[in-house]
Amino acid sequence: MAPKPMELAARLKKLPPYLFAEIDKKKREARARGADLIDMGIGDPDLPTPPHIIEALKRAAESPTNHRYPDYEGLLQFRGAVASWYKQRFGVTLDPEREVLTLIGSKEGTAHMPLAFVNPGDIVLVPDPGYPVYAAGTWFADGQVHWMPLRRENGFMPDLAAIPAEVTHRAKLMYLNYPNNPTAATATREFFERVVAFAREHGIIVCHDAMYSELRFDAYRPPSFLETPGAVEVGVEFHSLSKTYSMTGWRIGFCVGNAAALAGLGKVKTNVDSGVFQAVQEAGIAALTGPQELSEQYRRTYQERRDVVVAGLRALGWEVDVPKAAFFVWAPVPGGLDSRAFAARLLEEVGCVVTPGVGFGPSGEGFYRIALTIDAKRLHEAMDRLKGLRL
Ligand SMILES: *Cc1c(COP(=O)(O)O)cnc(C)c1O
Repeated sequence: MAPKPMELAARLKKLPPYLFAEIDKKKREARARGADLIDMGIGDPDLPTPPHIIEALKRAAESPTNHRYPDYEGLLQFRGAVASWYKQRFGVTLDPEREVLTLIGSKEGTAHMPLAFVNPGDIVLVPDPGYPVYAAGTWFADGQVHWMPLRRENGFMPDLAAIPAEVTHRAKLMYLNYPNNPTAATATREFFERVVAFAREHGIIVCHDAMYSELRFDAYRPPSFLETPGAVEVGVEFHSLSKTYSMTGWRIGFCVGNAAALAGLGKVKTNVDSGVFQAVQEAGIAALTGPQELSEQYRRTYQERRDVVVAGLRALGWEVDVPKAAFFVWAPVPGGLDSRAFAARLLEEVGCVVTPGVGFGPSGEGFYRIALTIDAKRLHEAMDRLKGLRL
């Protein structure tokens, strides 16, 4: 007798269809035809990890004490390095023992947070468009997602007053992400103040993903949510070394802020993972406390690429806002096409890959995202190719 088919759990069936499948398929087909694609879809830094961080890993990997299970909450020295970095960068004081938790990348932490605080049927407020993990983590905890549309006319910040009272009443968590993926928008301090008041009034835990705070341009310096008066009483901030130091493959991040919220997240984690390889944490200390010149150089590199793309799109007469941070350009689709049709035409007609905005949520429709993770020369070439497009 044939074994019974393996039926997926309801929570997995709840995940939306993967909206980039269509673009992925077209990419494979184009490459199979031998097309030279310029892929501006990948949100992963192409620049290498700075060498002194790699050296620190090599040294730490030799030490047998690092071959054992790490401490669950992370090496105290790593958490101390995070606290010093926060003090220096944002003027925020954190207790490394209670207000810093080491993560296996911030994706892991954001995904696990609802398991600590969301009961079946509770609501989580999630930005739309947004990083897909916020909704997935909510569904895995049997929570309900309430989408907060991010609109260009509001600077891609959610309108808190538009959230219905019966929703705020049942909401446990709110995810925010500034500088933002995919819109590259930044938050104002005044918005963060409204978030603190809102969270306090409704008893909501704020989970701010500050992943891109160091990829900033010109003289702009993105604030930490925790700089806002009262923020530590209502929320936490997720961060990682992935984008700042080009360390996406290393899997190390951290969550800082409210001690009770961190204790909850830590409790989930002690039951599902055993921490970050200590040698990687040693390398993380080297990243946070060592020379920062390369990060400065990376910022200049992304900024130069940003300028190539903004100038290129404007030369075509296409509308685009100049991003102040993160490594994305988010712009309205020209020519009245929908975002998937636009991305498909770019790929098929001029071999350029951009990400259709609708893939990040329904309110992303009408926009597309360019990731600045390929070199300026290729971006120039892409801008040239776009001139050949007849919309
Ligand atoms: C890249 C990214 C992450 C993932 O970070 P890791 O620390 O590598 O897990 C989290 N949030 C956003 C918005 C991202 O773009």
